Amino acid sequence: MMYFWQHSKRYNDYSSYNKKIFSSRIQKISINAGFSCPNRDGTKSTGGCIYCQNKTFNPFYCEPQKSITTQIEEGIQFFAKKYHTQKYLAYFQSYTNTYADISVLKKMFLEALSHQAVIGIVVATRPDCVDVEKIEFLQELAEKYYVSVEYGTESTKNETLTLINRCHTFEETEKAVQMTALRNIKIGLHLILGLPKESKSDMIEHAKKISRLPVDTLKLHQLQIIKNTVMEKYFLQQSFDFQLFNADEYIDLVIDFLENLNPQIIVERFISESPMEMILAPRWNGLKNFEFVHKLEKRLEERNSWQGKNFFS
Ligand code: SF4
Repeated sequence: MMYFWQHSKRYNDYSSYNKKIFSSRIQKISINAGFSCPNRDGTKSTGGCIYCQNKTFNPFYCEPQKSITTQIEEGIQFFAKKYHTQKYLAYFQSYTNTYADISVLKKMFLEALSHQAVIGIVVATRPDCVDVEKIEFLQELAEKYYVSVEYGTESTKNETLTLINRCHTFEETEKAVQMTALRNIKIGLHLILGLPKESKSDMIEHAKKISRLPVDTLKLHQLQIIKNTVMEKYFLQQSFDFQLFNADEYIDLVIDFLENLNPQIIVERFISESPMEMILAPRWNGLKNFEFVHKLEKRLEERNSWQGKNFFS
């Protein structure tokens, strides 16, 4: 069966989207440009989000002491051994990558785009760290390159955002997304499923709320308790009723979520793959992303389900 996204996968998947818009295989190269975060430097808070541990997603070649060009070169060397990738996206991933003066952002982004193998940038940031000047600069870049902004949203419930110390609201996410839309910039969102005090219906509500926004891509993450975070302390003290899912429960939750998600939204990820030594719980025996996707696809078939099944009802 052909679905809304013109292929037979039961969800609007990122690799099919990539194949459609790029002629060759594309690989993201993570960059740590040495930005800080207003939620850590005291501007909004000093403790950061209670689950935050940037080391969970920082590859070895990402060190802010190295220039952006060096990080790109080392990333290319690393991936060239694994894939015959021709083109790369520079992924400004660590901390808040629009949290600097526009002159600094220009220098960083233009350095990345000056590398001959780089065809675009992906900029991860907080919704309260963009303004018209920064977005207009990204719009200029988007005339020539692929440009995507990923907004850390995490939840659409303000009570949860307060509980996890995000120090921004969902309304700020909506405002940032609307400011970015219609400027030829791709928009991605991150959400965490399983945050404390959220029920299954709250999580389904996240799908419905983001479905109303002009969002291109979505990354979902299961809640993980990472060692040496504030959340680890709350978990060990049993401060909240944490409901951590096993992999099968999470798969069914993701399917319920997908059924309510706008079929136009491309789903880029379903899980985090933090290094096992950093995870306190749930550990899922080191289940890899491709294994998870395989199980999810099987379960979608068993349930005769697909993304957006309930979206139009
Ligand atoms: S906004 Fe991002 S970098 Fe800053 S504390 Fe939260 S998770 Fe960490």
